[in-house]
Amino acid sequence: MSQPTTTAPPTGRHRVVIIGSGFGGLFSARALKHADVDIVLISSTSHHLFQPLLYQVATGILSEGVIAPSIREVLARQRNVTCLFGHVDAIDLATRTITARTLDSTQEYSYDSLIVAAGAGQSYFGNDHFARYAPGMKSIDDALELRGRIFGSFELAELAASSGREQDLSRLMTFVVVGAGPTGVEMAGQIAELSKRTLKHDFRRINSKEAHVVLVDAADQVLPAFGTHLGGRAEARLKQMGVEVQLGAKVVDVDNDGIVIEDKDGQRRRIEALCKVWAAGVQASPLGAQLAEQSGAGIDRSGRVEVEPDLTLPGHPEVFVVGDMISLDNLPGVAQNAIQGGRFAARQIIRRLKGEPTQPAFHYKDKGSMATISRFSAVASIGKAQLSGFIAWLMWLGVHLVYIIGFKSQITTLLHWAVSFLGRGRGERTSTEQQIYARVAIEKLGDRFTPRSGLSPTPPSDQSAVPAPEQERHLSAG
Ligand SMILES: Cc1cc2nc3c(=O)[nH]c(=O)nc-3n(C[C@H](O)[C@H](O)[C@H](O)COP(=O)(O)OP(=O)(O)OC[C@H]3O[C@@H](n4cnc5c(N)ncnc54)[C@H](O)[C@@H]3O)c2cc1C
Repeated sequence: MSQPTTTAPPTGRHRVVIIGSGFGGLFSARALKHADVDIVLISSTSHHLFQPLLYQVATGILSEGVIAPSIREVLARQRNVTCLFGHVDAIDLATRTITARTLDSTQEYSYDSLIVAAGAGQSYFGNDHFARYAPGMKSIDDALELRGRIFGSFELAELAASSGREQDLSRLMTFVVVGAGPTGVEMAGQIAELSKRTLKHDFRRINSKEAHVVLVDAADQVLPAFGTHLGGRAEARLKQMGVEVQLGAKVVDVDNDGIVIEDKDGQRRRIEALCKVWAAGVQASPLGAQLAEQSGAGIDRSGRVEVEPDLTLPGHPEVFVVGDMISLDNLPGVAQNAIQGGRFAARQIIRRLKGEPTQPAFHYKDKGSMATISRFSAVASIGKAQLSGFIAWLMWLGVHLVYIIGFKSQITTLLHWAVSFLGRGRGERTSTEQQIYARVAIEKLGDRFTPRSGLSPTPPSDQSAVPAPEQERHLSAG
């Protein structure tokens, strides 16, 4: 690893560093468009990811490019922003610098104001090894891997039926989704639709409609954040679609071939399933813990930083934390919180630079919550209104279309939705071997996998990087 190089500010203007190109990062940068500042937006992904539609990439409705435009392109016309690709490893509040790594090089950036919007990752509640068998839904890599696993399971089932291995069919055609929040409900609903509508004419040996989709959650309700009425509606609709909903069911183990569940009475049982999806639990970026340690701020169980009411760190008015990384007044981990928080932080910086008084507190405007279950069916909670069915689904379509970044992406999305929802086709079913296996293969290489600036990883120095036979089994099946 090279020594850090320090980047000098291009002008003598106030330097704002923004960490993250998600909702918080993008909307804070945009809100600083007319400010007399130099902005460096640094992110470990070179795209802005519209996470709410990840499940549509995983189930073949949308391509990844539509929901993840290049952040450089999105901000191309904003002259005061420089977008850089890098993973921030360290923030030093005392020296006002951050250290970021890009492949094998390290850079340091100094700031006058810092906006930290590094979001949250998947949480496996201390069982990180589950990720190997049950990918989460947080990134484009996750969605593409899941796409490969979902469509791949049907392929393997067809193969098993063709070669007389009927005993494997149940495992290959059982899909378990863990977590009955919006993402889990959306995934379960979409896998059911795939099997019942999209794939029904595509196979010769299996009947795709016989796929068994199971949605499990330790809680007693589907969509707990939506209340019992809408949660009940969503559950009823899922059941109508053939999804088996298992509540009060805690996942205690996951392996290549299935999942172990502990019911409320303490009894354990197993569901044989090759394809598992993890849609339960989030953990804020580890940068939150660094900020908390250095500033004395509290941190909650999900790693979120207890910020001041104006989204700054205690004793550090120059550092704002926004979006999924914050713990404040039970604000939800949703896009609107990140968007509004990012804009608020930007406006505070502008006020300070103009010598105007700043706002003492951030006030979140709740614009409501929505979750879609299947085509033509969604639930929406907006103020006192509790909507479900077709009207809620139309609202869901409209809201998501508005927030997709870029006119091109909006038009493409609309066309793909017409194909998938009015017809039964899905134009984005392509999956490749690398999509399915790359994460596990890189994980197995461990320290031997060293990305280099030349874009070619260092080859492993010995044969130990080659999976042993029992490891291959995980790769080939999962
Ligand atoms: C599958 C799914 C479905 C969702 N559906 C909805 C929905 O329907 N409605 C809704 O309102 N919300 C939804 N959400 C939640 C919503 O997407 C998040 O609340 C929102 O994205 C949070 O914005 P953020 O800016 O805090 O973080 P993110 O959008 O996650 O952005 C974090 C950014 O930080 C970057 N980053 C992370 N670590 C580092 C680092 N160390 N160095 C540099 N960069 C880093 C990442 O690359 C990313 O660009 C969903 C989330 C998921 C995962």
